[in-house]
Amino acid sequence: MNIILLGPPGAGKGTQAAKLVAERDMIQLSTGDMLREARTSGTEMGQKVAAVMDRGELVTDEIVIGLIREKLEGDAKGGFIFDGFPRTLAQADALEALLDEMGMSLDAAIELRVRDEILVDRIVNRAKEAAAAGQPVRADDNEESLKIRLMEYYKKTSPLLGYYHAKQKLKRVDGLQEVPVVSASIAALLDA
Ligand code: AMP
Repeated sequence: MNIILLGPPGAGKGTQAAKLVAERDMIQLSTGDMLREARTSGTEMGQKVAAVMDRGELVTDEIVIGLIREKLEGDAKGGFIFDGFPRTLAQADALEALLDEMGMSLDAAIELRVRDEILVDRIVNRAKEAAAAGQPVRADDNEESLKIRLMEYYKKTSPLLGYYHAKQKLKRVDGLQEVPVVSASIAALLDA
């Protein structure tokens, strides 16, 4: 199965993707992780996107589509989980074309529904926990960038909900439930 996890920053996409990797041998394709990796390893592309990411804005479609294209050529194992991709309609069209090219298709786009108020708390907590554990804190996990990330989500990514609804691929899960309950809800959708 190939699925997309949709939802604003802090909705729990990464957490749920990690569970699907562990339990279903799926492959998580997080463009955010790939971009952060490119920054850490200091590639030209990584340097180019750094300031944009720190502000909380989206990087160009061309860059993220290129990253995804490379990964789709690898082993699909239990299927791909697209985490944080697509984020624009152009990316959604590109994903469909890429999957088609590889003889694959998308099974579902799962929306993790949450309320904005809790996103700020979750993200600020994520930053605090990382700091306490001596781990690096994401440069965009601060209130100022978060405001921009949310705005980007509503302006550019939320139209994908209509897009996948029209394609009869959209499923919804209450992302405010406890993590294991959200996982169980996703599992129920995938096994239906
Ligand atoms: P994330 O880890 O998914 O929250 O992504 C962190 C940042 O990486 C975002 O705020 C964007 O700057 C960039 N990014 C990640 N995925 C995409 C994407 N699909 N399209 C554009 N920018 C992205």
